Amino acid sequence: MTKAVIFTDFDGTVTWQDSNDHLADNYGLGKEPRLKLFEGIIDGKKTFREAFDIMIESIKKPLPECMKILEESIQLDPGFKDTFNWAQENNVPIIVVSSGMRPIIKDLLTKLLGEEHIDKLDIVANDVKIDADGEWHVVFRDESGFGHDKSRTIDEYKKKFESELKPGEERATYFYCGDGVSDLSAAKECDLLFAKRGKDLVTYCKKQNVPFHEFDTYSDILTAMKQVLNGEKTVKELMEN
Ligand SMILES: [Mg+2]
Repeated sequence: MTKAVIFTDFDGTVTWQDSNDHLADNYGLGKEPRLKLFEGIIDGKKTFREAFDIMIESIKKPLPECMKILEESIQLDPGFKDTFNWAQENNVPIIVVSSGMRPIIKDLLTKLLGEEHIDKLDIVANDVKIDADGEWHVVFRDESGFGHDKSRTIDEYKKKFESELKPGEERATYFYCGDGVSDLSAAKECDLLFAKRGKDLVTYCKKQNVPFHEFDTYSDILTAMKQVLNGEKTVKELMEN
């Protein structure tokens, strides 16, 4: 029986740095224009989908080269490996729910976690299309303004988990971990939202009165999840930080 499920953002949450920002800042439009572009989302002038597409289109290096650069520059959050191991030992599924691109995430996680572990978590994200001339583009997962509406993905998983429950069994506790704009819709689908300190998601949650628990690294998330599962603390207590 599954006691808990971890839904998690990838860039800046599972990893220490954001891989798409890294590519755009160094090999695409540059950091200042990128920040300006994303201000448009906060103002409501642009959707995440539009801004992300512009950002990815600005990267002119071939995809294999980009992946190599990322393998050399992106690190795991310092607490993620322990969380991953704990999840394996405790039969807790991890589902990466990302607004980034699946081939890049899979490549990075294979490198960072090890080839033998890559099939132990699910990755749900946008895809990539490569043209004959090597140019590559993001293929969005759905028609929403997010490109990938994370709340839909989470809802599908919840239905699946709950359909597998035996009579009398309680449903799992759903955790969500994130740091950015695209995590807000996902947040509302879960019991406990972990939002990374100092990042956009915290600002959004405060603005929209969405309760959350602040974290610095995945070690904080792991500690809090254990407290909930062994009854030491309630979700409600943690939501109050
Ligand atoms: Mg993120």
